[in-house]
Amino acid sequence: MRLILLGPPGAGKGTQAARLADRYGIVQLSTGDMLRAAIKAGSEVGLKAKAVMERGDLVSDDLVAAVISERIDQPDAKNGYILDGFPRNTAQAGALDRMLAQKGSGLDAVVEIKVDEAELVKRISGRFSCAKCGAGYHDDFKKPEKPGVCDECGGTEFVRRPDDNAGTVRNRLKVYREQTEPLIAYYEKQGLLETVDGMADIAEVTAALERILDPISENA
Ligand code: AMP
Repeated sequence: MRLILLGPPGAGKGTQAARLADRYGIVQLSTGDMLRAAIKAGSEVGLKAKAVMERGDLVSDDLVAAVISERIDQPDAKNGYILDGFPRNTAQAGALDRMLAQKGSGLDAVVEIKVDEAELVKRISGRFSCAKCGAGYHDDFKKPEKPGVCDECGGTEFVRRPDDNAGTVRNRLKVYREQTEPLIAYYEKQGLLETVDGMADIAEVTAALERILDPISENA
């Protein structure tokens, strides 16, 4: 099954994609994670992306399309994948359509996770993750059970994304409204769009996604 999770920063795309990847035996492909890894590794892609990401703007379409095209050819993506954070505008969506047509495949579904903007700011400004395993937490909604210790791996160091500060978050939301939101109509026209209420709690959103995706995965 090949699908896209669409939604603003803070909607829970990453959290839900990880759960769906486990359930359906497919891989989660987050362009944000790939770019952050490239920055950490000091690669050419990372050097190009760093300042743009710190501002909350979009990295060039060609660069992310090339990163995704290479990644979906890897053997672990053969069973399918969840795109989280790509495409981000209609140029990228067009590039993806052409890329998949060339590879002889296509998308099975696009699911929009809908969340109010006031809620997004609250969610993003409190989030942090384990430096060792990447498990996600939040100052108000999901603290580690034992303060200062990761529930998943016992790690004791935590990190916050540099672009999760108030100024950059405002720009990221503006970029979403202006550039990414038009994709909702784009995929609606293709008959691929489904929507879930992302204001519900994490497990309820997962259940709503599974109700949509279980039948699709049986046919994919
Ligand atoms: P995310 O982790 O999805 O919130 O992405 C973090 C940042 O990475 C974004 O604000 C962009 O600067 C960059 N980025 C991630 N995915 C894309 C994409 N598909 N196109 C352009 N820039 C992206």
